[in-house]
Amino acid sequence: MSVHFRKLALIGIGLIGSSIALAARRQGLVDVISIATRKAETLEEARDLKLGDIYTLDAAEAVRGADLVIICTPVGAYESVIKAIAPFLDPGAILSDVGSVKGHVVKTLQPHLPPNIIFIPGHPIAGTEHSGPSAGFPELFAGRWCVLTPGAEVDPAQTEKLAAFWRAMGSQVEAMDAAHHDMVLAITSHIPHLIAYNIVGTVADLEAVTQSEVIKFSASGFRDFTRIAASDPVMWRDIFLTNRDAVLEMLGRFSEDLSALQRSVRMGDGPALEAMFTRTRAIRRSIISAGQETAAADFGRPHEAPPAPDAEMVHEHSSGDAP
Ligand code: NAP
Repeated sequence: MSVHFRKLALIGIGLIGSSIALAARRQGLVDVISIATRKAETLEEARDLKLGDIYTLDAAEAVRGADLVIICTPVGAYESVIKAIAPFLDPGAILSDVGSVKGHVVKTLQPHLPPNIIFIPGHPIAGTEHSGPSAGFPELFAGRWCVLTPGAEVDPAQTEKLAAFWRAMGSQVEAMDAAHHDMVLAITSHIPHLIAYNIVGTVADLEAVTQSEVIKFSASGFRDFTRIAASDPVMWRDIFLTNRDAVLEMLGRFSEDLSALQRSVRMGDGPALEAMFTRTRAIRRSIISAGQETAAADFGRPHEAPPAPDAEMVHEHSSGDAP
């Protein structure tokens, strides 16, 4: 199905918003792109990068006449964004978003929606640990999944139209309900990030291991955690504040499994450890064969010179862990 929108309004123009702007333009999916953001310097950056056609600090102005509006701010900003734009949304417009949690988004946006708006929340499972308008690139969504969570009242033809938009930008699209999305993402994304934040924090506090040893020997595993733990603090704060129930549910299961693993280590239970590690290796293989990661050694990541002592711990353009 070929897809086309007259005017796309992007509210928020960071990594995800700018990648949508670049991909939609490259694929000829829209006539006009209007961009709204909070800070004047971010708007100027977007203008310098030529990401759109209309630039404004007034989200209401951006959405006027738009037949597709996508909110691309951190989830914590949604309440103020929807209050600003709701009265100015065009009847029949599709309103979507890219937030990493969905139940909370529905709860926040739904009460403010005018009756004739087609509300289809979305979440592209694609990203990097970089932020801001200059972090975007048009291939970000290629080969990645985008989840849509339309309510039962949404006409399937409208969902298909938005799905076609994402497919044209390279995504594969799946629809599911918002609660299910939150449970799946809790275990595939939110808990892994929590573990990464925790292990990097633990290492930072260790007195027995010096900082220089941590950096020197980081390729033994720690480095990959630091990349994930360098993800945007505000966005991740919002994710844990807004997907609390699903995260706690999955964290409970994780803790039980960790205790079992701890017991195997304490008891010297080699067969149990080997059985567990064999099972997990099979999961990695299925991720590679599904095209969601490279089989290259060391995750295919570039090997760089060791960072200068005062350099940021993480600076490579990663393969893209998505919240
Ligand atoms: P980002 O690069 O930090 O950009 C956020 C944008 O939102 C900026 O334009 C920022 O503008 C604007 N913004 C921030 N606070 C705002 C507020 N209170 N009111 C209005 N605008 C505000 O973020 P991102 O990585 O693109 O993430 C955006 C959304 O995508 C989030 O909801 C996140 O959950 C979701 N997501 C992210 C990833 C990822 O890997 N990064 C992946 C999938 C989904 P100013 O500079 O003007 O404040």
